[in-house]
Amino acid sequence: MILKEILNIYHKELDDLFGNEEVNSFFNLLIEHYLNIKRIHLVMHPNYTITKEEEQPLFEALSKLKLQQPIQYVIGETEFYGLPFKVNQHTLIPRPETEELVDLVISNFKNQNSSALKILDIGTGTGCIAISLAKYLVNAKVCALDVSEDALKVAKQNAELNAVDVNFILDDILNPDCHAELVSASQDYDVIVSNPPYVRNLEKTEIQPNVLNNEPHLALFVEDDNPLQFYKAICEFAQHSLKDKGTLYFEINEYLGGEMIQLLKSFNFKDIELKKDMFGKNRIIKGVK
Ligand code: GLN
Repeated sequence: MILKEILNIYHKELDDLFGNEEVNSFFNLLIEHYLNIKRIHLVMHPNYTITKEEEQPLFEALSKLKLQQPIQYVIGETEFYGLPFKVNQHTLIPRPETEELVDLVISNFKNQNSSALKILDIGTGTGCIAISLAKYLVNAKVCALDVSEDALKVAKQNAELNAVDVNFILDDILNPDCHAELVSASQDYDVIVSNPPYVRNLEKTEIQPNVLNNEPHLALFVEDDNPLQFYKAICEFAQHSLKDKGTLYFEINEYLGGEMIQLLKSFNFKDIELKKDMFGKNRIIKGVK
């Protein structure tokens, strides 16, 4: 079949849902992923024809897109901080805000000898934070925790894909026994970083349906009456496992910046900084022990 005809079918089936521009960009990503063809190839060879076998993944992807599955899940891969990451329904799709968190940590430490650095990422998901840090803070010793075995499977594949060593630990930071195990994994940490679940149930109405219907709720939502549950557990853990002058970095709920400052103060963190993301929303907080 002529590849351009498949593009026409995509437009016919999907334009009402996503608009013409977005459908073009989906199609470009898909032909690059499955056929290794760049967009310009279609312009230069308007009659480019593909085999039945080559068509098949494009039609499978079309049915998934019709069901409003995110393109990253359809392709099974995305890019984060310039690196490739596998994703599936068990992991959040890495967000650009989280790239800003990673960038902050890297810029704080890149001029230091990172060989002695011990870093822990709590709630690692795809492993995007831990793996990017391991990649760019060469020689740092990075551990990463997640409660989901399925997410850790993806994270381990991603560490391999990006050729870094990360020590992955399956456990729940809310479980006090987990703390002892983490400490024994690496005594004291210089950096603890986390992007835990922080969206309150009351904010569900603000969440896009494609996020709500596809991404893991375990990684997203917290109870309205205890939205800082994970941050509290991590601060408690940091009290005995973060080195003196070690730094804690969090991605946070944009509406809870004030509460997060209070929380870090109550655990005696110093040099607390609240930072906005590229959309101007309170998104990152750091504190020094
Ligand atoms: N920023 C994500 C979202 O808006 C939430 C990530 C999280 O809960 N840690 O969907």
